[in-house]
Amino acid sequence: MCSRCNKKAVIELKYSGEFLCKSCFLELFEKRVRRTIRVNKLLKNTDKTAVALSGGKDSAVVLYILNELSKKAPRSELIAITIDQGIERLQKSGLNAAKSLCKKLGVEHYIYSFWEEFGTTLDEIVEGSKKLENPAPACSYCGVLRRKLLNEKARELGVTKIATGHNLDDEIQTAMMNFIRGDLDRIARMGPLVGVIKDKNFIPRIKPLRECPENEVELYARLRELKFQSVRCPYSEDAFRRTVREVVNTIEERHPGSKFQILKSTDRLIKTLRKKRFGKIGKCKICGNPTSGEICKFCEIKGELGLDDYL
Ligand code: SF4
Ligand SMILES: [Zn+2]
Ligand SMILES: [Zn+2]
Repeated sequence: MCSRCNKKAVIELKYSGEFLCKSCFLELFEKRVRRTIRVNKLLKNTDKTAVALSGGKDSAVVLYILNELSKKAPRSELIAITIDQGIERLQKSGLNAAKSLCKKLGVEHYIYSFWEEFGTTLDEIVEGSKKLENPAPACSYCGVLRRKLLNEKARELGVTKIATGHNLDDEIQTAMMNFIRGDLDRIARMGPLVGVIKDKNFIPRIKPLRECPENEVELYARLRELKFQSVRCPYSEDAFRRTVREVVNTIEERHPGSKFQILKSTDRLIKTLRKKRFGKIGKCKICGNPTSGEICKFCEIKGELGLDDYL
């Protein structure tokens, strides 16, 4: 039974000791996202926002909620951008889910591919990287190239904010991983709004689902009947992240509410670190784009994989 209205419950929230029915859960979820946006000033009512739509549940939920919000802000604009990385075992279902969601919601949808833009696919890059002495994990190549392409295309389209689907679990796993590695610079660059530096080439990225536990995002997507693909990326099995995920889930199970607490602590740490001028940003020696090192990750990968011909 729902603790708020006595209808049939669809979820138990251990961290608050409540059971919620469908409508009370949807309301709570949306309220939380609106609060994240408001408190962190993620959006202005004149923003042109692009949702980085992967076809998975998280970005589907972001698109749905921002689309609802944009109806109340007539001067704002919303589009979706999907990057096709060229992962054979994954892409078709994700692409189709993304297309049909945009059609259903009436949101303009732009699709770009690694193949067309970089002349290669992630599958080929991963294969090629095996020849390198110290190949990076697939997600590093994927992340750097995807961000680069997304940023460039968004800029061409006059986008002012890029919204991504990072949820609470993603955020705290990343924070814990950085913490364990001692990478405080990276923690300093985390947060609900990233990439806010005075550089016209760099579009700020926002994370409206940052305070939403992953299982709740999935339930929300199902209850709203949003199309999403549930096939996992074949490269997603980062062993370290998996361990961290298990540890965090165990802590949460035994001490409900810990995930929110870890996020809060991370945010306090981010503030302190930023004051101490950690995470200083300079310019890449090759392309001039903002970077924390001498050469940006993109130029590094480009050289490493010999992608120069296409760029
Ligand atoms: S799991 Fe890694 S390789 Fe797969 S889509 Fe995500 S970032 Fe890219
Ligand atoms: Zn209820
Ligand atoms: Zn560069």
